[in-house]
Amino acid sequence: MPNHDLLIRNGRVIDAESGVDRVSDVAITNGKIDQIKPEIDPATANDSLNVEGQWVIPGMIDTHVHVANAADFGRVRGLGLQMVAAAGATTVIDLGGSMEAMTTGIAARGSGVNVGGLGYLKPGETVPEGRLSPDVITEIVGSALEAGSLGIKLWGGYYPFTPDETSRFISTANNLGGYVAYHVGTTETGSRLDGLREVPVLLGNTGRVHIAHINAYCRGSILPVEDEIQEALQIISELRDQVVSEVHLARPNFTLGKCDEEGNVLADVVSNCLKLRDYEPTDEGIREALRDGYASTVDTTRTGLVLVTGDRGIELFDEAKTDVSMSFPVNNATSAFQLTAAKNSENEFIIDAIASDAGSLPRNVNIEQAMRMVKFGGLEPLEMVAKLSYNPALMIGLGSKGRLAEGKDADITIIDPEVGSASYGIVGGELIMLEGRVVGRGGTVLTTERGEKAVANTGSDYEIIDPMEALMYVGRN
Ligand SMILES: [Zn+2]
Repeated sequence: MPNHDLLIRNGRVIDAESGVDRVSDVAITNGKIDQIKPEIDPATANDSLNVEGQWVIPGMIDTHVHVANAADFGRVRGLGLQMVAAAGATTVIDLGGSMEAMTTGIAARGSGVNVGGLGYLKPGETVPEGRLSPDVITEIVGSALEAGSLGIKLWGGYYPFTPDETSRFISTANNLGGYVAYHVGTTETGSRLDGLREVPVLLGNTGRVHIAHINAYCRGSILPVEDEIQEALQIISELRDQVVSEVHLARPNFTLGKCDEEGNVLADVVSNCLKLRDYEPTDEGIREALRDGYASTVDTTRTGLVLVTGDRGIELFDEAKTDVSMSFPVNNATSAFQLTAAKNSENEFIIDAIASDAGSLPRNVNIEQAMRMVKFGGLEPLEMVAKLSYNPALMIGLGSKGRLAEGKDADITIIDPEVGSASYGIVGGELIMLEGRVVGRGGTVLTTERGEKAVANTGSDYEIIDPMEALMYVGRN
């Protein structure tokens, strides 16, 4: 009599929490992992999947994606949800977007992945223009939580606040029990090493925060890249009890090309990218960089978003009156590799996770790049699983995910080591992706008790989580 829904047979099961790495069968019942044993009788399952030669890991959790705000990153709402599933993710956290855009996206193009989101702070949209009083900050963070977000994301590199306001946003989110992520930079610093140097002061002794894409601050704009890497690692190590962090492994960055009426580039990130190659930080500088193939804009196609450069790139830039997503191949491979592999004297990783900062951006390469690192010897397979699944689950406080163990959620990613990418994605025991083809639909929204009402009203499936379970709050021991 079959009592399991699905049996995954003959895979190399790799679980970072238990340290298990051996060929086993995994039985799934009612969306949970029921049994993991060297051999389970196939007659006990309704369905089975033979994955001999492949790696079975806890579902990949990407703690930094962009799948909600369609306007900033392409025109098709929810497109990123298909792209993250194709890349092997089973849970993603949208780092800055509206819950309305997210739930609309899930309804339109959901791929079965679980999605949590952070409210974004953009003057003129979610935040009033001008300086902000403590009361206003409390109100803004409160409304993000009421809307169903897990917390807030500060986009210092794009929409910097004063150091005081930044500090206040972080402590308010901490006090209200929300998650808080920070792309460094205030009115006094930038999206560079100086922004990272400012973090200890912003946090004081008590602030807790997730610092986004550490590698983005190690591009050599202040010191030689090697020195920036060392200093960044030093800063993060010293903030170990207050900070969680991630690195992405993609070459292209993504940013916004928007210029003011005089033609001056608005985003600090774009200016830095242009200056690195001696282009003027203006609309004309962007056009030149597009012509030379250094800059790209993002075009929406039926299968996803793609990078375009040259004449077509300039056409898109002008059509959008400069307000377009842009990409530059500026992410330093040395810093990505070193920051990912670096450990402290206790043999612990200094940077917790690999995250893509992708989603709707065409660079969902966590697994592909991590597998390259494994091949090269920069990460052991168990370490890779820590970086892709287990640590991200700790970071967000998802106690039933990120582990392959009896009773945990049957969220599983299967990797073909020959190809070096994900071959199957499974969420709650259901197949959502096979061989890059997304077959999942809908998706579960991760929200808090405070946001339950708003999310329930959208008709989306949801699960309540408590951000106070996140690593930044519960601590490392
Ligand atoms: Zn991002």
